[in-house]
Parts: sequence; structure tokens; C-alpha cells
Amino acid sequence: MAQQRVKLALIDLSGTLHVDDQPTKGAVEALKRLRQHGVQVKFVTNTTKESVGSLFERLRKIGFELERDEIYGSLGAAAEYVRKNKLNPYYLLTDDARTDMPPNDPDRPLDSVVVGLAPGRFCYDHLNEAFRVLHQKSAKHEVQLVAVHEGRYYKAKDGIALGPGCFVKGLEYSTGVPAVCIGKPNEYFFRSALPDGTDVGDCVMIGDDPNDDCLGAMRIGMKGYLVETGKYQPEMYNDDNRPAVSGIFPTFSDVVQHIITSLHH
Ligand SMILES: [Mg+2]
Repeated sequence: MAQQRVKLALIDLSGTLHVDDQPTKGAVEALKRLRQHGVQVKFVTNTTKESVGSLFERLRKIGFELERDEIYGSLGAAAEYVRKNKLNPYYLLTDDARTDMPPNDPDRPLDSVVVGLAPGRFCYDHLNEAFRVLHQKSAKHEVQLVAVHEGRYYKAKDGIALGPGCFVKGLEYSTGVPAVCIGKPNEYFFRSALPDGTDVGDCVMIGDDPNDDCLGAMRIGMKGYLVETGKYQPEMYNDDNRPAVSGIFPTFSDVVQHIITSLHH
């Protein structure tokens, strides 16, 4: 059967295009080549530590050519959710990430908690404040726990590091309030990242997280290509438990080569 033409690629950032301030091998060139072959790109990220502005500046600085509005993040999607639902949240976010979110209304009581990756804020006092906001839940007082994402762990400069997921689960456990999860791997996120009228059969997702990037996108009918850079740890897998993704490649650059080759067959 002829391979379907790839028209749009959703590309994960951290671990796929770069690890901290280092592009993955050949990624800057590969991104250029992908665009030259007419494939539309959009960058999708669960990064919640940095605002879109900071992330954009950083990627430009390390050599990537992109526009700010090509980045679609779970933080932006969460801000949209807060606005739509007119929430007045307690934010467990970094100061930088906080700049992407709607301001608080001092005249209304807090009615929700928004959790992203905020290493400096995950201490007892802050978590306890979040707990108290959610504990007010009653028949008359609705509360919401919003998880920008529920990542288990990620790859930091000094090794593997704890994600926000366990703090979200902890708050759920102690309050009985189930979280609304915004970012990857939710269907809502992938669908809202695609321009209107896009055929999912023409789209691929490229990322370093088998579940959040690849399987999530595959559930809505896209292809999911996994890269072995970033958080992916090949030693965790063997022939029997390897992730059931559409393809596994050493780097982003190898995925691009595969896509370009398939365009000409
Ligand atoms: Mg990643």
C-alpha cells in the first residue's frame, strides 16, 4: 500500500528538539529540511516551567528557526480553560509560567487550583494552601483542580527529574477532587493543536515520551514516532514490552529523513 503523504508534523520540544540549551544531534538542520519539503510544523509542549515567550527566545538562541505562534503549549491551553470557565485559581506555577495565565480577581474567593511543573513551589506550605482551596468543596461551592499536565518525570540537565503528576495525584487523594487534565496525552490537547479541517491521517507526532506524545496522538488517528533522545530509556524495554508506536528512531533528524524519503515513494 502506498504510504500516505505527511502534511503536518506536531513536534515535541524538550527531549526531542533539545535537552536544555543543547539541540539534539542534527535537529536544527533537520527542522529546516522538513519545512523545505513542504511539511507544515507545529511545536507542542507540556513544558510548564517556562512561558511561551521564554521558550521561544531560548529556541531561537540555540539556533532553531521558528515563529512564536507555532508553539502550542499546555500552559496556553490551560489559560484558555481558566478564562472559559471564569476560574479564580490558586496557582502552583513558576513566576514565569504565571505570566501566561489570567490574573486573579481579588474580590472573589479562590475556587480552583492550577498545577504545573513548579519545583520551587512544591513545598508543604504551598501544597497545603492548594489543599485548603480544594477542601472548601461543598454543595454550594464548586471547586476545580486543573493539571496543566500529569507528567511522571522528565529529563533535566543533571538527570531524570520528578514531574508535577505526583503532586496532582496527591491533591486528588487528599481532597477527593478529580483533576481536569489539559496537556498531552489528552485528546482535547491534540485536537485543539491541529488547524481546523486537518485530516488526522496526514499528521504525525514526533516525541520522546511513548505515552504522552506518541500513544496519545495515535488515539486520535495520527502516526506517533518515538525518538531515543531525551527521557526515552531504551534499556527499559525489550522485544516484548517495546512501546507500540508507529516507529522508533535514534533522533529527530532520523524521523525527518524517514518522512522525506516516504514523500518521494
Ligand atoms: Mg519531551
